[in-house]
Amino acid sequence: MLSLKRLFGTNGIRGLVNKELTPQMAIKIGSAIGTFFQRGNLIVGYDARTSGPMFAKAVIAGLNASGCNVLFVGMSPTPALQFAVRNHKMNGAVIITASHNPPEYNGIKVIWKDGIELSREQEIEIEDTYFNEKIHHAEWCNLGTTRALHGVIDDYVEAIKKHVDVSEIAKKEYHVIIDPGNSVGSLAAPRLLRELGCKVTTINANIDGTFPGRSPEPRPENLKDLALTVKSVGADLAVAYDGDADRSIFVDENGRIHWGDKTFALVEKHFLKDNPDEKIVTPVSSSTLVKDIADRYGGEIVWTKVGSVTVSQTMKNLNAKLGGEENGGIFYGPHQSVRDGAMATALILNIMAETDEELSKLLGELPEYFIEKGKVECANDIKKKVLEKLTEQLSELNMNTIDGVKLWFEDKSAILIRPSGTEPIYRLYAEAKTQEKTIQLIEEYSSKLETIINSLKS
Ligand code: MG
Repeated sequence: MLSLKRLFGTNGIRGLVNKELTPQMAIKIGSAIGTFFQRGNLIVGYDARTSGPMFAKAVIAGLNASGCNVLFVGMSPTPALQFAVRNHKMNGAVIITASHNPPEYNGIKVIWKDGIELSREQEIEIEDTYFNEKIHHAEWCNLGTTRALHGVIDDYVEAIKKHVDVSEIAKKEYHVIIDPGNSVGSLAAPRLLRELGCKVTTINANIDGTFPGRSPEPRPENLKDLALTVKSVGADLAVAYDGDADRSIFVDENGRIHWGDKTFALVEKHFLKDNPDEKIVTPVSSSTLVKDIADRYGGEIVWTKVGSVTVSQTMKNLNAKLGGEENGGIFYGPHQSVRDGAMATALILNIMAETDEELSKLLGELPEYFIEKGKVECANDIKKKVLEKLTEQLSELNMNTIDGVKLWFEDKSAILIRPSGTEPIYRLYAEAKTQEKTIQLIEEYSSKLETIINSLKS
């Protein structure tokens, strides 16, 4: 009988340092992970958070106690550690990171031998071991060892360069501004871009786990300085990474910040030109723009639930080579089937060099959509029933119910209605060719939801 208690959320184990996640817990979690890997060989690394070294030591103690050997990398971008797992033929990795969460958080991500985070079934095994005291304690003579692993970032940078035309990019002498948000994005991307012949200017590139420059979640509202800098120094583009450098948000030479769907659609367009008939994997939260591009250039869209692990697992199962998310996650399978900020940056530069066009022009050529968001309060205990009723009412429409309800309409507008996983609300995301239509969609479907919620209350 497996435990119903949970450690893992949608992207690993996360919590407030020394409140929800303590080093004592981290030792036990390390041992539970070590028990799962059965005396395997694992990589361990961490992002720039102040609590990173503390949790890494605790997790390593737990891993060694259960008989696992550790190659310890230290501070590194998450995608570089994921690449190292396959490059060194390891059984997996444990990454101490809370990605885009504020600095007072940290977390533990577990990676399988393919470089992708564990499946939910595998996580349940670790949770069962942790909560039901099934941890393997190795004999004194079978404890795991820990050695330092050097050169992970060198290998990672070299691997990315193999997927782009280095000399074509170098000829253009692009000036790129990089904002790693005071975290591990500083360790690989500036170097990669210099090796691609770019002139690199950095802001917020000093490593500081208090994240003084901006929030580790790159959003338009905290990238204003970056956008102004691009214009004032006349750079060709800017890029901002999240806390563990797997997601990237781009700013064009005019200082315009572009959300992830858009840059993903640009990568998708150029990928499909060279590789028609390929599958493109993306969550239902992505813009119709991604589908427009697939339709126009002969690709096939595979919609998934929201979440980067689902995208990676789906790509692996279907042998798909490209995936992307609206939040700036680009998954380039020929390199690795996980989101990777430095790889995404190299791909964008490659497209600019190949087409000899400015980023604003390349992104401006893509179909334009307006987006509007809304929310409706709904008690957690009736969320499921509400979704059933809503699906029933809308069954005549062009719908996908893989995650909430997504509806596509004839006029290219669309709406996603999804229960929040953390708050007692339903979220609505509408997009259309005009602003009026997005507002009308939000109003129409908010009122449909409210009617259903009220009918269930009485
Ligand atoms: Mg991240």
